[in-house]
Amino acid sequence: MGDDERTPRRDATDRPTRSRDTRDAGRTRRRFIWLAGTAAMAGLAGCSGGGGGGGGGGATETTTAATTESSGSTGGVPEAYVTATSLDGTQRNPDSLSSQEAVSYQDEPKDGKQCSTCRYYIEDKNGDGVGACAIVAGEISPEGHCVSYVEYEG
Ligand code: SF4
Repeated sequence: MGDDERTPRRDATDRPTRSRDTRDAGRTRRRFIWLAGTAAMAGLAGCSGGGGGGGGGGATETTTAATTESSGSTGGVPEAYVTATSLDGTQRNPDSLSSQEAVSYQDEPKDGKQCSTCRYYIEDKNGDGVGACAIVAGEISPEGHCVSYVEYEG
């Protein structure tokens, strides 16, 4: 009797309508979830690729920095000095510099004259104790000297 009172028949009567709706809704929901998941995976794949690209970007930056330092286009100095201005305001042109050999550059003063008092000297910009020169290539010591020395009177 109890079994009959549960009346599977009554459920069966109600079920077709509600069940079909529920099943359809469930299918639609599952399909949406599947599509969303697929889209998400595609998105993740894209991000993953982007991340790889980002890593590549980092590598590129490293390569670029290395290339810049070794290319000679900077005149043998860190980026901060490439087109910096000297004590008297002369702007360094990396494409028009004398070599240190050509001007007999040395790391020591001569006759009391040194780069740090020369009008062409570019002071240290990165705390490593050396600077650059507006007319001579390469890093320049403030205690250095060359034949192009001109006292800065500014
Ligand atoms: S002495 Fe020569 S290397 Fe030194 S700052 Fe002057 S021009 Fe440049």
